[in-house]
This record gives sequence, C-alpha cells and structure tokens, in this order.
Amino acid sequence: MRIKQLISFFMMPFPRETFYSIVARASHYLGYPTDAKAITRIVGDRSHQLHADLPSVCSTATDVFGLERDKAIDTTLFSYYEPWLSNERSQLIKQSMLLGTKRIPHAMAGISASRISLDRPLRYCPLCALEDYDIYGTTFWHVDHQAPGVWACELHHVQLESIAPRRSAMEIPPTGHPSYSARYASHRDVQLARLSSDMMRLQCGGSINAAIAADIYRSKLIRKDLITKCGQVRQRELKSKLLRFWESLTVYGTVERMINSSNDLSYPSSIFYRRPSHYLPIKHLLIIGFLFNEWSDFMVSYINFRADGCRADQLGSNPDNQHTDDDEQSVIDKAIPLLKKGNSIRKASKLSGLSFVKTKALATGMGVNVKLRPQLLFEDKRRAIWRKLHIGESTDAISTSCSVSLGLVEQELTAHQYLIPLRKKIRFYKKLCHHKKMIIDYMKEHPNCSRNDIRTALGSAYLWLYKNNSHFLYSLIPAEIPRQLRRSKSQST
Ligand SMILES: [Zn+2]
Repeated sequence: MRIKQLISFFMMPFPRETFYSIVARASHYLGYPTDAKAITRIVGDRSHQLHADLPSVCSTATDVFGLERDKAIDTTLFSYYEPWLSNERSQLIKQSMLLGTKRIPHAMAGISASRISLDRPLRYCPLCALEDYDIYGTTFWHVDHQAPGVWACELHHVQLESIAPRRSAMEIPPTGHPSYSARYASHRDVQLARLSSDMMRLQCGGSINAAIAADIYRSKLIRKDLITKCGQVRQRELKSKLLRFWESLTVYGTVERMINSSNDLSYPSSIFYRRPSHYLPIKHLLIIGFLFNEWSDFMVSYINFRADGCRADQLGSNPDNQHTDDDEQSVIDKAIPLLKKGNSIRKASKLSGLSFVKTKALATGMGVNVKLRPQLLFEDKRRAIWRKLHIGESTDAISTSCSVSLGLVEQELTAHQYLIPLRKKIRFYKKLCHHKKMIIDYMKEHPNCSRNDIRTALGSAYLWLYKNNSHFLYSLIPAEIPRQLRRSKSQST
C-alpha cells in the first residue's frame, strides 16, 4: 500500500505521456535492483507488453497511479484507432484494457490481423526531450511519437530518434546534448505525423463510417481522373500516384510493399471494396494525405457529407455530381474566411449562402473562429486552448487565434493550476534563448568584440542575462580583458 501511495503521489503523467513511460519513470524512481522486479511490483505481471499500442494494463494506471479511467486510456494509442472503430467495438476494447485482458484489444482493433507490420521501436524527438527536461526535470515518451509510421516531430519538424524496447529494462529518452544538430524530417514525414496527431485530437465525436469515407475519397478521385466511367477506382494509377506522393517517407519501403502486394484484395483497393473494420488507420491516412493534405479538410468533407444526408452511392459513382460538388466548394470557400474573421455562425451562414447546419459543421470540423459561451466550449476547443496554454502562448494570442474571449482563456488557465508555474518557466526559458541568440549572433558578426562592446550594443539582453543568470552570461561572452591591457588599449587609442 505504501508503494501505491508513493507512486500515485509522484507519478502523475505528463501531457500525452505513454503508459510505458510512466512505469519506466516509476521504476527508476523506486530504485529497485532490476527493472524486472520493479515491473512485477508495479504492474504485477512481467509478461505484459507495456509498450504495446493498446496495453491491457490500464487497471494498473487506475489502481496504482490513481488515474481516472479516461486519463488512463489517454496514455495509450487508443485515440489513434478509435475514429475507425464502431462505438460498440471501442467500448469493448476500453473495457478489456481496463480489465487487463491480454491480446483482445489488439485483435479487436484489427492490429494483429493486419498484414503490414510497421517498424516500431520506441521513438522520441530530441528537441522535445530537451524542452521536457528543462520544464519537467525529466524526459518522457510521447504518445503522438509512437503512432504507426510516424518518424517526425510535428512541432519541431525533425526526425525522431529510436530505441529498441527491452523487456528487462525500462528506458526513458536520453536528454542529448544542447549542441545537438537536428536532422530535419522530410516534408511527407511531417505531414504524416501531423495527420496522425490531428486525427487523435480533432475527432468528430464519434466513429468514422469507413464506407462513407471511401465514398468521399471517390468524389475526390473523380477530379483527379482516377475513376472509370462505371465508377470503378483506377487501381494501378492510384497505386503509382500514392507511391510517388509518399516517396520521401521514412517507412516508404513498408508502404511500397503494402501497395505493391500481389494479393488481389490488397491495398488501396481493399479500402474501397472490402469490409472496412480491420484496417490500420495509416492506410486511410495515406489516402487522406494524398487527397486532402490535412485531416481537418477531410473532416469538413465528412461532416458536410453527413449533414447533407447524402446517400453514399450518389456522390462517388456519378461524375455528373462534380458540378454540385464544385458549387458547394465555392460556397464553403466563402464561409471559411468569414468564420476565420470571427463572425458568428449565423452571420457567416447568411453572408456565404451556406446553410446554418453546414456552417456550424464546418466551424466545428476546422476548429475555426466561433464565439462560444463557456458552457458551449466544445471539448476540442478546450483542448486546443489547453494545448496552446501548455506551450506558453500568451493568453491574448490564444484568445485571438481561438476566437474566444480573454476571460474564457483565463478561466481555462485557472482550471489547470499547474499550468501557471509551468508557463512562467517556459516564458523564462524562451527569454533566455532569445537573449542568448541575440548575443551569439552579434558575436558572429563581430568576432573580435569585447564584453564592453556587447554590453553597449545589446544593453537590455546583457542586463537581463546578468540579472537572471550571470554564470550563463559569462560562459557565453568573451573573457574579461585584464585591467592592465585595458589601460594600455585606451592609452594607445
Ligand atoms: Zn519535438
């Protein structure tokens, strides 16, 4: 019992931290002779795959770490699979994860049935690790970096580093060295990372009907001339276009194998013609990225489609629908900037000619500007505000970018008290970096400058660093000129 109390007190998960990461930190914290012993003590059974996408040990998170059920589920990749599962299946998976039933969650999510296996070591972003260490005093594994096929950090646009998971030892990401030179990720790797995390964050409040999604893909394929007159997808052309589009992906080899499989029912045709419950979300994301670029754009089409109440077969298979589709697109194009300017849904709807229901769906799907009363603040919106608060954005800027009143942003800040000291630290760190950069840039331009030159040229940066961290300042700037030399220098001039 004592261990439980200790752990639940110290081991609250960091934002978007994985279940494996919390156990790894707890294991290090408790100081057992081996990690295996710590795992047995904390989780109760060493045979659990703690780094699995859907670890069936969430009961540990609720019992030992004292997390609420939803928070426990948030430490896994459940939100990655959830959009593509029926509500019934989602509930069953959640239950098995909470009860600790092995294998069932993966089988139900279709992970074990999937033919492709994407290379899955534990991954971390070196720049996130540096920031985490600075803010929280430790590094940790992020849920978003563990999603299948993701090899880039969406925030820093750098390649993720990896470590192979071992059963006998629990690891946390290394801190790296401050002079670490980032390896920039390819544009497509960043796009796939963004698609994955947006899918996890910007859900439409229910499962996505894969058949409707396939029809929406078809309507886009018509414009790309990838649908035959009989409404069939031109599979070979689609395959080669997908391959060309994603060719700079780190997991390109796996994607290539998946797309070029000789199996008749292979990807991507399976998305259009087979029962869709057993596909990894990445198979949809590759198509969505190719056709829509962003997850939010796909969601707008999806929500519009549902709001329309269109029958699936009316949209995709008939090329004549392209005109209506184009007309609607132009009305949507009018509505988007109106919403972005902060107009109410009613006004945007009136000015653009788009129906009220569709304008509302559009605003919800894109998370664009709608003035909302507190009780109407949608979960997504609150999460977006929380996320921005969490990365230290100013409340003013958040109020403008999320189109909510300043009072609401502050209300959200008060609701999460721990954000206040955290934001202070972030602001301090940002200022430190800013002033450091100014001084380094100046020194590069003036290689022979003295301390005095820097103080004269960059008075406020110099003074701020002197007041807040003089040791750091002195490690940055040139050594002091000895008094004697100073005098001789002044005499000679
Ligand atoms: Zn990062």
